[in-house]
Amino acid sequence: MYPVKSYAVASAQHPLAPFSFSRRDLWPRDVLIDIRFCGICHSDIHQVRNEWGNSLYPMVPGHEIVGIVAEVGKQVKSFKPGDKVGVGCLVDSCRECPDCKDGLEQFCVHPVFTYNSYEKDGKTLAQGGYSNRVVVNEDFVLRLPPALPMDAVAPLLCAGITTYSPLRHWKAGPGKKVGIMGLGGLGHMAVKIASAMGAEVSVISRSRNKEADAKRLGAKHYYATGEAGTFEKLAKTFDLIICTVSVDLDWNQYLGLLKRDGTMVILGVPPKAPAVSAASLIFGRRSLAGSLIGGIRETQEMLDFCGKHGIVSDIELIPIQKAQESYERVVKGDVKFRFVIDMASLK
Ligand SMILES: [Zn+2]
Ligand SMILES: [Zn+2]
Repeated sequence: MYPVKSYAVASAQHPLAPFSFSRRDLWPRDVLIDIRFCGICHSDIHQVRNEWGNSLYPMVPGHEIVGIVAEVGKQVKSFKPGDKVGVGCLVDSCRECPDCKDGLEQFCVHPVFTYNSYEKDGKTLAQGGYSNRVVVNEDFVLRLPPALPMDAVAPLLCAGITTYSPLRHWKAGPGKKVGIMGLGGLGHMAVKIASAMGAEVSVISRSRNKEADAKRLGAKHYYATGEAGTFEKLAKTFDLIICTVSVDLDWNQYLGLLKRDGTMVILGVPPKAPAVSAASLIFGRRSLAGSLIGGIRETQEMLDFCGKHGIVSDIELIPIQKAQESYERVVKGDVKFRFVIDMASLK
C-alpha cells in the first residue's frame, strides 16, 4: 500500500482538514501518479456539503488531477515513469455495457468516479485529487500536451471536457453561432474552445460586468440580458446555446434565441425542474438537451486539441491550506476562473 497525505472532510458539517490514508498496491495495469496540481470544481463543493444527497465520507475531493507517473504495473503499456498525465472525473467503469463499448464511460451504469464513489470492489472508497498520489488503471489515465503549463491544464480534466464534448457533439465550428451562458469556470473554457473550433461565439450574461473578459477570451459578441430588448434583438440567432449556469431561468425565453433546428444544452442542475412550453420547441423544431463530462477517448481528444491550440484555463494557484476559503469565493463567483491547488503545499 502507498501512504497518502490529503485534505478531506469528515462530514458535510466539517471543514477540509489534513487526512492520511493508503492507496492500493499496483495491479498489473495500474499507474501510480505523483499529483502536482488539482483544480477546484464547483461540484467538489456540492459533494463536500452533501448538496446532492449522495455523499460518502470521509471524502477527499478533486477530479482535475495532473501529475507525473512515478511507477507502473507489470502490464502497463501506455505510460512510463516521468510521463506528464492527468485524471478526470472517472477512474473506472464496467467496460462491458453499450456505453463503455462506445467509449462513453460517463454514461455507464456502474462507473467509478474519482471520489464520492466505491471502487470496483464495491467497498473501498475512491478518494480524489486533493492528495499527493493516486493509483489509477491505465485506461483512465490521460496524456497531457507536453508544451502547456501543468497547473493551468488541470481544469481541462473536468471544465474542459464538460464544455468540449457538447461543442463537438453539436458541431460547433465555422459558420455556426454559439451562445455561452455564464462566464465562470465552465463558461470561460467554452468560450476558448468554441472560438478555437472556429464558431462565432457570443457570451450571454446578466450584466455588462464580464464583457472585457469575454472579449479577451475570444468571444466576438457580448449580450446583457438585464438590458431591455435583448431577447427581442437576439430572437432566432443561435445554432447552439451552452448553458453553464445552474440557476432557475425563464427557459422559454432562452429557447426563443435558437434558430430553426437549434439546440440548447444544459450542463448543470438548476434547483427547479425546467418549465418548458412545448411551443418553444415545436415552433422552430428546437431541442433542449443535456451533456455530462465526456468519455476517456474524447477527453484525450480534447487535451490534444487544447495542446494544438494552446488552450489552458485561467487560474488562481493556491496552497491547499486555502482550499476551504476558496470554496466561499467559488460560490460567490469571485475567481478568474478556476482555483488550482499546488500540491507542493501539502506537507
Ligand atoms: Zn468537475
Ligand atoms: Zn459500462
